[in-house]
Amino acid sequence: MDENTNLLKNFIQRIIEEDISAGKNSGRVVTRFPPEPNGYLHIGHAKSICLNFGLARQYGGVTHLRFDDTNPEKEEVEYIESIKTDVKWLGFDWGDKMFFASDYFDKLYEYALVLIKKGLAYVDTLDAEKTREYRGTLTEPGKESPDRNRTVDENLELFEKMRNGDFKEGDCVLRAKIDMASPNLNMRDPVIYRIKFAHHHRTGDKWCIYPMYDYAHALSDAIEGITHSICTLEFEDHRPLYDWVVREADAPCRPQQIEFARLNLTYVVMSKRKLLRLVKEGYVSGWDDPRMPTISGLRRRGYTPEAIREFAARIGVAKADSTVDYALLEYCLREDLNRNADRRMVVLDPLKVIIRNYPENKTEWLDGENNPEQPDGGGSRKIPFSREIFIEREDFMIDPPKKYFRLSPGNEIRLKHAYYVKCVDYKTDGSGNVTEVICEYDPKSRGGWSEDGRKVKGTSHWVSAADAVECEVRLYSTLFIKPDPEEGGEFVHNINPSSLQIIEKALAEPSLAEARPGMRFQFLRQGYFCPDSLDSRDGRLVFNRTVTLKDTWGKISSRN
Ligand code: ATP
Ligand code: MG
Repeated sequence: MDENTNLLKNFIQRIIEEDISAGKNSGRVVTRFPPEPNGYLHIGHAKSICLNFGLARQYGGVTHLRFDDTNPEKEEVEYIESIKTDVKWLGFDWGDKMFFASDYFDKLYEYALVLIKKGLAYVDTLDAEKTREYRGTLTEPGKESPDRNRTVDENLELFEKMRNGDFKEGDCVLRAKIDMASPNLNMRDPVIYRIKFAHHHRTGDKWCIYPMYDYAHALSDAIEGITHSICTLEFEDHRPLYDWVVREADAPCRPQQIEFARLNLTYVVMSKRKLLRLVKEGYVSGWDDPRMPTISGLRRRGYTPEAIREFAARIGVAKADSTVDYALLEYCLREDLNRNADRRMVVLDPLKVIIRNYPENKTEWLDGENNPEQPDGGGSRKIPFSREIFIEREDFMIDPPKKYFRLSPGNEIRLKHAYYVKCVDYKTDGSGNVTEVICEYDPKSRGGWSEDGRKVKGTSHWVSAADAVECEVRLYSTLFIKPDPEEGGEFVHNINPSSLQIIEKALAEPSLAEARPGMRFQFLRQGYFCPDSLDSRDGRLVFNRTVTLKDTWGKISSRN
């Protein structure tokens, strides 16, 4: 490999390549994605999924999907199903490598016995307050518990009693015996088992002791033969404990923990706990609300897996925390949708236009190319044109400022895919609101191009009044008003009160009557839209705006 390609690799790829060339793990690469099934996955998890599955794919390895279900009280089956759906939707496949940490409860118990027998774990009866006090601080060493020097036999007996339910919750814990004076607080005899009389979604009431995260996670990795255990930076200080656990428990393999910076995004809260609050307290309609940064929310909003994978590739992996601008995610999305979404015309705020020199009762079916970004224009659809149409209210002004190129008295514009029309009159109601615009069309400009080469500066989208289909359109903006939703303390205080705007009656060209969830469109000048997967069905069309076009309109008008 030459120097340049090496520079483009991220630090994890370099570690893996060094391991492969050194023959470590016999050249195998086994990664895992270990979600705790206590919520829906979010865009931060997508980064981790793309990284773990991407590395395995790149180096001919495999990735395990492991549910970290060691906390019996929090996990729910609904979350497990949603996680599987989301990982698959992102385009990744764990094959037959789906595991649950709870599958290892027996083995984890055995490993605890190994530690006890080696004199490296003990049952501690110190109460919670004392435990905290004995732990010490960053500047002061901890104090040893009086129980620390129990004999192995005593510990074995007490641990078995813990397991048999002879103690109450909080009576005692099993702790690793490491070093109460360690400068790393994680190494000051961390708890590895606690008592919890809780029903587990997979093991039922078999257990009343449950392993702690650091212990269970490290050993689950080792049991599965994970070679590279990739996690976020906050676990850096836990790495010595991770290594200690796999080494001292005599686990069959020694996975290498590698930390990277978690994804933070502007205008987004990225913690399941906080997302759960948004759901529970009704700030959003559910985990899949299109304003949520969850994978299911993004999917319902119209994001594509390709765009999310591209985003993950662009942000890369680093060793230092930073916050990515939401605009980058939207940029990746627009790139994908611009290439792949068919164009359609929908008028969000309709204003009637009568084309007075066009025959009454006539309908012409015009051709509209689906997508100018595709080699053959992406094929075309038929669009009906008739005497009475609707345009966007903002596309007409009685008294326009300079540089307003849309319709105004005496001004001529192009109706996209149709004809040139010139405004010859208009009507208003009692309060001066325009109720109708009267135009004349140039029959020699069919398709939107004049025979004499006459140019117009404005192009409007439109729908035929008799043929348009009604639809509901939902426009979204950020869920928070501050780039840092935590600014000022409580993120719920920074909720954007107008993050959802509903247009109950927009008018769409009739081909959109066929729109079904999973399809994506560009509505000319309005952005990218998709039918809502929950509310859009036969007889009721509901579109979510996925993202605005931003500068795309500029491109369209310069081409015209
Ligand atoms: P949260 O704080 O949102 O609840 P978590 O880390 O507790 O997230 P887990 O289910 O434990 O959620 O995470 C599964 C995997 O996803 C972990 O390996 C974790 O490191 C990774 N992950 C979680 N959040 C992010 C993020 N923002 N960026 C990158 N990876 C993340
Ligand atoms: Mg977690």
